[in-house]
Amino acid sequence: MARLMGQMMQMPLMISSLLRHAARHAGDVEIVSKRVEGDIHRYTYRDAELRARKLAQALARLGCEASDRVGTLAWNGYRHFEIYYGASGSGLVLHTINPRLFPEQIAWIVNDAEDRVLCFDLSFLPLVEKLAPQLRSVQHFVLMAGRSHMPAQSTLANLHSYEDLLEAEDGVYHWPEFDENTASSICYTSGTTGNPKGAVYSHRSTLLHSYGLSMPDAMGVGGADVILPVVPMFHVNAWGTPYAAPMIGAKLVFPGPHLDGKSLYELMEAEKVSFSAGVPTVWLGLINFAKAQNLRFSTLKRTVIGGSACPPAMMRTLEDEFGVEVIHAWGMTEMSPLGTLARLKAKHRELPVEAQRRILEKQGKAIFGVDMALVGDEGQALPWDGQSSGNLVVRGPWVIRSYYRRDESPLIGLDGQQWFPTGDVAAIDADAFMQITDRSKDVIKSGGEWISSIELENIAMAHPAVLEAAAIACAHPKWDERPLLVVVRKPGAELTREQMLGFFEGRIAKWQVPDDVAFVDEIPHTATGKIQKLKLREMFKGHKLPGS
Ligand code: AMP
Repeated sequence: MARLMGQMMQMPLMISSLLRHAARHAGDVEIVSKRVEGDIHRYTYRDAELRARKLAQALARLGCEASDRVGTLAWNGYRHFEIYYGASGSGLVLHTINPRLFPEQIAWIVNDAEDRVLCFDLSFLPLVEKLAPQLRSVQHFVLMAGRSHMPAQSTLANLHSYEDLLEAEDGVYHWPEFDENTASSICYTSGTTGNPKGAVYSHRSTLLHSYGLSMPDAMGVGGADVILPVVPMFHVNAWGTPYAAPMIGAKLVFPGPHLDGKSLYELMEAEKVSFSAGVPTVWLGLINFAKAQNLRFSTLKRTVIGGSACPPAMMRTLEDEFGVEVIHAWGMTEMSPLGTLARLKAKHRELPVEAQRRILEKQGKAIFGVDMALVGDEGQALPWDGQSSGNLVVRGPWVIRSYYRRDESPLIGLDGQQWFPTGDVAAIDADAFMQITDRSKDVIKSGGEWISSIELENIAMAHPAVLEAAAIACAHPKWDERPLLVVVRKPGAELTREQMLGFFEGRIAKWQVPDDVAFVDEIPHTATGKIQKLKLREMFKGHKLPGS
């Protein structure tokens, strides 16, 4: 029997519509940016939309065609925001790149994504000049600055000033409409084994995610909010805030590279920030500064903390001493990123404060649009009893089904459906609150950034005195986790801690070098010969890293 179809307009969900909406309905609302240069830039959504249109024209003039990738190496700022819209809105694919990665890894990612244009902040000019000979696909380099900041000389061919490019355009441009499933942006994650992998978002997934994150029980942001994303725009699109803010017409405040406690505090106060989001490590800096100066926040009401487990003590400090509500959130690059947020249900309101806190310390409930399940060792679904702990899998319209240009599907089957395995181990209670208990993926997360344990092990194994090496995460009060290298020396070989750590120099980014080395006679293995990371982590549970 033929179904009766809905008779609503077919209007594709387009990223450009977010900014167009903001320009029309919140045209005078400000976007304030602290620039690399240290000064403050301020303009409105109306201005931003016009400049994004000019950028779309400029990118076309540079020869960009549908789905060409536009890479960015940039901090949180208004030009980066314009590229979000100018690139995606015109049918190109925004590719935000994490500048904290080791240069060779950045080059690998740019080549894998085949970026045609690379836009970068002034801070990254030396890095880009160094990398350029390795970048096979990049035809145009765009320095995100005005003419006065252009270098007198540069080794970069086809180097353009962002402002010059915009100045040459008239802005008479109509945002195109096309299939909402078209790729809009790509983010690489190092949170998997092997080389970084790209998660390709679509216009549709991005818009649905923006609706989802704005809901009251999610981030609960609205047009009266002033939003400062501390989380970088190169880390899963600043958790979606540059899309949600124009959707709801909220003022945006961008901190640029100035992420120390003092700079953030001053910017929050000056711009009357009410809502923020970031990983635990940045909050530590902010709290320490405010405490030392005996300062309080006069406008900041709520903050989302995620990317790593938020320490309960941090939640308490922010709430009790600073009156800032903490929303603990969990997600991942492959999920755009939002999955769960800890917000109380009505029935929890009657509980004593301590019991409420224990609920809010969990990673929280899935927002509508994300479904979760727990998988046991035998591949069976586990009950939501708060006790059974298993591999956490998810599905939903803003969860990836495959990685960019990887043939093998990461999905697994459960109860007749396909699910994305998160690599996190969790329990879910009867109220549907999820709590991460461990991680099955072999990576270490330090200050919100991934360190590949396999990469550390490969480097260590290249040392002639090393028989076997294993890198594991060790708890750290500031960085959440730091790498500890467990090493078995070759019989008769001599190797000190300093020699081992010195071997990492120049082979990996400084912040990824292990904090400590533990020499052992033997590393535990499974029957199939794999290193038993869980057992190793248990063995070194109480290990005190130097300086922690
Ligand atoms: P990323 O793709 O870099 O955003 O990293 C996602 C991963 O970070 C998740 O799979 C978790 O392992 C970890 N993660 C994110 N948020 C949390 C959280 N609130 N608590 C514990 N781990 C988290």
